[in-house]
Amino acid sequence: MTVSWEKSCKPLSEGGLDIRSLSTLNESTNLKLCWDLMNSKEDWALLLRSKVIRGRRVISHHIFSSIWSSIKNLFSTIQSNCGWQIGNGYDINFWLDNWCGVPIASQLNIPSHLHANLTNKVRDFILNGQWNFPSSMHICFPQVIYIAEQVTIPFEATKDKRIWLPSNNGDLSFKQAFEFKYGVGQNIKWAKDLWCPDIPPTKSLLVWRILHNKIPTYENLLVRGFQLPSWCSSCNIFCESTFHLFFECSFAMHLWNWLLSIININIQFTNCFDFLKLLDRNWSPQCRIVLKACMFNIIYTIWIRRNHVRFKN
Ligand SMILES: [Zn+2]
Repeated sequence: MTVSWEKSCKPLSEGGLDIRSLSTLNESTNLKLCWDLMNSKEDWALLLRSKVIRGRRVISHHIFSSIWSSIKNLFSTIQSNCGWQIGNGYDINFWLDNWCGVPIASQLNIPSHLHANLTNKVRDFILNGQWNFPSSMHICFPQVIYIAEQVTIPFEATKDKRIWLPSNNGDLSFKQAFEFKYGVGQNIKWAKDLWCPDIPPTKSLLVWRILHNKIPTYENLLVRGFQLPSWCSSCNIFCESTFHLFFECSFAMHLWNWLLSIININIQFTNCFDFLKLLDRNWSPQCRIVLKACMFNIIYTIWIRRNHVRFKN
């Protein structure tokens, strides 16, 4: 009975094991490679760019390139997630590129079939380091001029820079590519308490499986079609469920009551997560680790004893 691969590949904070999915790693590497192709000044990128990029589009015919065949589908992803930092304005399409927050063509709702005619570069409207629009633009598109004039033209005309919008520094690192491909998950409160260098991972792993309800107790095996003796091996009275075995059975209660009496807390467990509430108190860091180790060892002991009774009589 295993936790799904998808869950295992989540970060620790989201209840996973922080295993990197190979397919997501591959997609992230390809995204980074596509970014490098579009921005690098290295020979391989200059050569491949000259072969596959035509203005704002990419070629649709086949070429013999293992790199290109892997990344050609990511070109649109890069384009829709990047913006431009104006330098000399030579590389930026005034209407279609995102250099002022949202592409001007989108702000004006210009239909896509007209986009091929919108070929002006930003440099066409810059003169001596100032915005310079023809009088027809002032009459027909005053709002466009207003939008443009919110953007400051740099004093020193450098090369235009493509920036990756989801990142803070504008560059796309491999880490950011992975985060982009993986997406943002939801943190789980209990997840951060499971893993700790002072507790052996085998014990943390058992607790992790319990919290994911992936322990082969009778109740869980029955759902999967296994017909086995149903009684709890510890008490031989009740049906064995995960909650019963670890938190309700007389043997488990004996151990938990022993711990609760030492830390002087009275709590009734109603589900498999309640024991983590013990950690919510205002413990010092050292006490917290000791308490956590005790809790995990109780759970581990219950499981080892149950398997010993069941399989070794
Ligand atoms: Zn029992």
